[in-house]
Amino acid sequence: MNKNILFLCYISLQLISCNGVKKTTKSKKNSGDEFAKTITQKDLKTHLSILASDEYEGRETAMPGQKKAAKYIANYFEKIGLQKGYYDTSYFQNFPVDVKDPTKIAITVGGKKMTFLNDFFYMGSFVDTSYTDLEVVYVNYGVIGENYSDYAGLNVKGKAVLLKEGMPKGVEVKGDWDNWRKKLKVAKDNGAVAVFTINQHFDERVNRIRSFIANPRMQLHNKGQKDKIKTLPNIFISPETAQNFFNVSVDSKKGQLTPKIQLLLEINQVLSSSNVLGYIEGTDKKEELVVITAHYDHLGYDAGEICNGADDDGSGTVAVLELAQAFIKAKKAGKGTRRSILFMTVSGEEKGLLGSEYYTENPVYKLKNTICDLNIDMIGRIDDQHLTNNYVYLIGADKISSDLHDISEKANTEKIQLELDYTFNREDDPNRFYYRSDHYNFAEKGIPVIFYFSGTHEDYHKPTDDVEKIDFEKIEKTTKLVFYTAWKIANRESRLNINEVK
Ligand SMILES: [Zn+2]
Repeated sequence: MNKNILFLCYISLQLISCNGVKKTTKSKKNSGDEFAKTITQKDLKTHLSILASDEYEGRETAMPGQKKAAKYIANYFEKIGLQKGYYDTSYFQNFPVDVKDPTKIAITVGGKKMTFLNDFFYMGSFVDTSYTDLEVVYVNYGVIGENYSDYAGLNVKGKAVLLKEGMPKGVEVKGDWDNWRKKLKVAKDNGAVAVFTINQHFDERVNRIRSFIANPRMQLHNKGQKDKIKTLPNIFISPETAQNFFNVSVDSKKGQLTPKIQLLLEINQVLSSSNVLGYIEGTDKKEELVVITAHYDHLGYDAGEICNGADDDGSGTVAVLELAQAFIKAKKAGKGTRRSILFMTVSGEEKGLLGSEYYTENPVYKLKNTICDLNIDMIGRIDDQHLTNNYVYLIGADKISSDLHDISEKANTEKIQLELDYTFNREDDPNRFYYRSDHYNFAEKGIPVIFYFSGTHEDYHKPTDDVEKIDFEKIEKTTKLVFYTAWKIANRESRLNINEVK
């Protein structure tokens, strides 16, 4: 390296440090300490005991519990004096979701109705269809090869087929016939309109995948409709269901006709959900914005039990509420931050990061002026990898802006002294946590992000994720780290750098 440049650096460093002395005095006065102090375990607990109570029914997106939680958050924002974040007119950014509810499937055979999860479960396409007096043909395994066909001699056009999982014994057929999608395609090619698949280990399978099949699936309204591949409805049934409803045993002869059925697959609805936005205007760089997010939705019910989601992501939601009250106190004390701050609790996270996707596709504040997103998701428990609560995983901090990483480190060293664990920040993290919470939608737009997380635990996505198990000291410390990081970013002279793409 050129020595002259070194010398110049030395001179400018001297200048900076001279300036620095002045700044230190100034920043001491405005260190944020008096406002960070207002973030307390007691307040966090008060909020979480309400939001993670049974009354909120697990806060499932587009369901009454989620709407109730949205109201609670908006009321709190209003009470403490945050501006309405949605164009000054509302705290809510509403968005429509397509809801596909498998509990609405109705299958009747000879007047007898099948029960969801007891007699059948559903996979495959979510196109509304209904059939009356549908014929069902038993096609053994539904397998086709070069010299073999379970469909030979059978006419299944406009009918449903009933088949069993697996392969015929002693027959050579190429391909992955364990994949039900392949059997579905063959059925479709033969003109069938629906498939019933007999699963030998029905109960075991239902237990294993209950969380994927029992609750409504959702996507942003009209998203990806154009290139949606229409597959046949595939209804999995137990061997008992095959026997009781269709009079077919797994040893039945191919081609056997079963009683006609009524199949009603009207399961699609368009419902509304919302993000909740509270805004604090900055003092002299107000067009620039720091965003702080957490998702307030959770899973709703699991087999009749409420999933309260105290950690996921009640913990992040109450952190945002506490941060909002700390920053508004600063503003009211005449020490408001230079940049504006948006406190946004989003919904639809558990259904595929829908709320944050909607926001970043329909931003209320210009994305080009959005400095960063600090996203808090699950900070209230201790995972197996740590013995004490004095840690937090940081994910993404250095990926887009090295400034962000440095500021976050500095805030921690100066004020909090948590162990910052970067295990999940590795590119080869097999858990891929970086892609799994709402900050990712901001990162996708090139906005620097930090994801604050304390790891998974045995109650993750279970009805036992309850407020009694929450470590509020841990939430308080992590929330204060977010506070100081946001405080620094919102008050510093320059915006965050954007790393050069290597
Ligand atoms: Zn979750």
